Amino acid sequence: MTTTILDGKRTAELTRNALLDTISQLTQSGHTPGLAVVLVGNDPASRVYVNSKVKACEQLGIYSQKWVLSAETTQTELLDLIHKLNEDPRIHGILVQSPPPSHIDETEVIRHIDPRKDVDGFHPVNVAKLVLDDPSGFVPCTPLGCMELLKTYGIPTVGKHAVVLGRSMIVGKPMASLLVGKESNATVTIAHSRTEGLEEVCRSADILVAAVGKPQLVKASFIKPGAVVIDVGINRVRDASSPRGYRLVGDVDFPNVQPLCSAITPVPGGVGPMTIAMLMSNTVKACRQISGC
Ligand code: NDP
Repeated sequence: MTTTILDGKRTAELTRNALLDTISQLTQSGHTPGLAVVLVGNDPASRVYVNSKVKACEQLGIYSQKWVLSAETTQTELLDLIHKLNEDPRIHGILVQSPPPSHIDETEVIRHIDPRKDVDGFHPVNVAKLVLDDPSGFVPCTPLGCMELLKTYGIPTVGKHAVVLGRSMIVGKPMASLLVGKESNATVTIAHSRTEGLEEVCRSADILVAAVGKPQLVKASFIKPGAVVIDVGINRVRDASSPRGYRLVGDVDFPNVQPLCSAITPVPGGVGPMTIAMLMSNTVKACRQISGC
């Protein structure tokens, strides 16, 4: 079977290019989109993510603020900053990099972000809007990126059976809501660690989205021939032959699964690059909605 590789790098570039005109028009009318990224602590991976988000803003002409707070920052101090950013007219999007140190109550912090600036789409108001099919809400960037890939490659979802493997609030649940929503009209099954007959459930999928965080859990035997497979997983596995000592693999056993699929995302270069592109898109949307432009 000929398999289409769903190229996230290229699709993210198309998304960014499409945003440039809107950003330029907004800037000319005095409403430059602005994103504040807040990092608490020194987690090296989080630093990399934060820096790449700020860099993406710079490349597109989005105003950005990077707040790096010490690991000892209290919940009250963090909430004070969030309240300031809520009031700052230069800022349309606020993102607190996850995970914060363990003494910070992340759920509570998210509830303090103005839902109109919640470009991560984690605030309960935006969760509700997603379920309600209300397009004014913000959808978490990773599932939004998966949908953008499906749209860009013209993959039909209407009436298809989609299985979403994973039920996190960041990926699995919003992904399932998008697929079952009025734009996509798929029939959706959500599977998780307590699902019985996981392999069989996955094998019934026309579209399989894997978001479990378990390297190469999805084997060839999980795949219906001709299925579309979206691999959200990003896992480090030891690899002595790599200069870094590890390589990145997804939740899907790509070499063995790929020949069975009609389309599949690679890891890296699939869903990953889409996530930041969707963050930029959400920031522009927030700017337009707040400024009324
Ligand atoms: P979570 O750990 O929050 O959720 C994992 C989900 O997978 C849970 O619902 C869990 O079930 C389920 N699960 C775990 N093991 C199994 C199993 N053996 N069989 C069936 N289900 C299982 O992870 P996230 O949703 O945050 O992330 C998932 C993956 O996506 C990770 O690899 C992460 O790195 C990656 N990711 C990638 C992003 C990107 O930009 N490409 C962004 C965000 C995440 P249960 O609920 O029962 O515990």
